[in-house]
Amino acid sequence: MSNVWRTSALLALATLLAACASASVGPRDPLAQVTSQTGAGVASRTVVRMRGAQSPAAALRRAPMFEFAYAVPDSAALQPIYTRVRDIDLLRQLPEVQAIDGMFALPRSLRFVTAECGESGAFYHSADGEVILCYETLRVLYARGQERQRVLGLGEESILRYVYANVRFIVLHETGHALVHLLDLPVTGRQEDAVDQLAAILMLRFAGLDETPAEVIDNLRMAANWMLSHSTGAYSLESYADEHALGEQRFFNLQCLIYGTDPEAFAGMVDAGDLTAARARGCAREMRLVSRAWLRLLVPHLAPGYETYGEEAALYLQQSTGD
Ligand SMILES: [Zn+2]
Repeated sequence: MSNVWRTSALLALATLLAACASASVGPRDPLAQVTSQTGAGVASRTVVRMRGAQSPAAALRRAPMFEFAYAVPDSAALQPIYTRVRDIDLLRQLPEVQAIDGMFALPRSLRFVTAECGESGAFYHSADGEVILCYETLRVLYARGQERQRVLGLGEESILRYVYANVRFIVLHETGHALVHLLDLPVTGRQEDAVDQLAAILMLRFAGLDETPAEVIDNLRMAANWMLSHSTGAYSLESYADEHALGEQRFFNLQCLIYGTDPEAFAGMVDAGDLTAARARGCAREMRLVSRAWLRLLVPHLAPGYETYGEEAALYLQQSTGD
């Protein structure tokens, strides 16, 4: 997609969300300051991009392609968000989703839908094969982006970047649930953690061609920031028993994967308190193991026309180690 087109589409979305943002956001999180730093020093070799990747021949597309839909909300308050999101065709602007569309031999089509949910969130409905992004989430994300901009003294454009980065992470997280279900992938341990890892890997691998490695990392750091936004710091039995890790744990898990892409470039994260030294020591290995595991799970399901990815994965598995 053209960068100009996306920028104008996103600006339109920003204007709209600015008008609609009324949801309150949580208290200022103490880590917001440090999480906003950009990994400007990250070496491009650490973020493997899809530049030069083979484009699959349309004739070979035997896998069902994704479908996209924008459900009309009942709530009048959400109507403007719906109209704008539909008009800019937001779901088709997510580079990672576009990159993996048709890549896997899914037994059925996967539908991406924006809808009114009655609460902020996103879901994968296995019965319908649908990934749902709630209009309410867009509203809350925008409010959170505004708060972050105000607290950190950032530019106006940071709000939209925040919304867009998080929409990408959230949709990819749900897509991870969908892939686990549709491809019947084995996952031991907490699936919520596994699909957070997949979302991070996909964002590192399939970011927009116009995005620099530093911007890719910054997108992930904004997703980590969002994890903290749900946290009050005061947990109940329900939080401990939840299928999701605590917001702080999801934050540090994601920070560890970011750090693990290039510990040298991100050495400052430890000093800044973004990651503890003890956890940081194992992050390169953690990132490597997670990448190897997801590759092994997904490569057998590549659709015809994507053999190049299989070869690339085989090379990575050969060259990296599980140690
Ligand atoms: Zn989930």
